[in-house]
Amino acid sequence: MPPPEHPVAIVERIVHNVYLSCVSGPNSDCKQHFCSPAAPCRVARELLAPFLNSSSWNTAVKTYKVDAFFSNVEEGVYYPHPWHINTRVRKAVLLSRYRVSRTICSAGGTYRDRGVYVAYDFGSAQGCAGASEVVIKAWASGSDVEYHREVAAYKILDGCPGVPHTLGSAQYEPTCDVYVLPMQKLGPTLSDLVSLLPNKRFDAPMVLTVAIQMIERYRDIHARGLVHGATKPGNICLAPRGAGPPGMLYAIDFGFAIPLADHLPLPSAHRIDAVGNRRFISVFAHHGISKSQRDDLESLAYTLADLFHGELPWDTPRVWRLKMATPASKLFCGMDECFHEFWRDIKALAYGEIPDYDKMRGRFVACLEDHEKACAPLSWWDLWDQHNG
Ligand SMILES: [Zn+2]
Repeated sequence: MPPPEHPVAIVERIVHNVYLSCVSGPNSDCKQHFCSPAAPCRVARELLAPFLNSSSWNTAVKTYKVDAFFSNVEEGVYYPHPWHINTRVRKAVLLSRYRVSRTICSAGGTYRDRGVYVAYDFGSAQGCAGASEVVIKAWASGSDVEYHREVAAYKILDGCPGVPHTLGSAQYEPTCDVYVLPMQKLGPTLSDLVSLLPNKRFDAPMVLTVAIQMIERYRDIHARGLVHGATKPGNICLAPRGAGPPGMLYAIDFGFAIPLADHLPLPSAHRIDAVGNRRFISVFAHHGISKSQRDDLESLAYTLADLFHGELPWDTPRVWRLKMATPASKLFCGMDECFHEFWRDIKALAYGEIPDYDKMRGRFVACLEDHEKACAPLSWWDLWDQHNG
């Protein structure tokens, strides 16, 4: 029989106050705790030791409310309904160490919710005092196809340069009924960066730098047998500040990634649903034709044109018809010749044909060297700091 409501509330308040007095007492050098009574960090657990040993503490609090926290960390997020995934991931400590603080994005209907969040990781020896920020990807349903694609893709891409690494495997979190994948937190996206710039555009050396890096990314991703299927400015991130190779750009979001069918020399005979961002997917993908290497590079070409012009010629509801009817001379108007050559190479690729990445990259490198004679090399983070005042 469940305990009556009223005494439970009293016990919860007592437990909460005992915990608060322990963690904020004179022995604590941590200003703010992101952990909870149900999942205390290592430091909080030690502070509580005089009162309770950790196993009896667990027994005492695990069955009570899971959303009792000691500090509020929500950063201006509206979460409307208790069933919404944004609400659910905030009700509990995830995997006993992650506390969601901010929503990056969330999508899906009632049965297929998914979201990306920034969270504090208080699982280190310093507890909440040493909490670092991580990214949490969460799915409400374990049968969500994007969940399986993404988890499989990150396994295949483990250790691949310019792909975020996961912090452990994806797991089910029973306290809020979601599937959780913790990941390294990267810098802002190119979409965030371009929106800060006064004219909302990248200059030629910046676009060339993106081209060079992303051709390298796709060379490595394709070599591992995957098509990304989601190239756009919002899915390219700066490296974490002060970490990784300087200037490295990362490809993110592998929810649309599909295996390269190297045993199948032909595109699937069945029409495949056109998935991905409509502004950036290839013309073939609009028509439901199986994606391969050439489609990632075509989406990259659109991404480069969008970053240079600040818009695409088909920013209207008639996307694919305009996309088919736009000549390269318009798409790459005012851009260096290497972009036109890149386009000609992509359009000459057959389904599943391996692109000559080195030749494509080499032309962008040569063009960038010409530009760099006139200007200093680019630092993404300096640019970000300069405009994010
Ligand atoms: Zn704590």
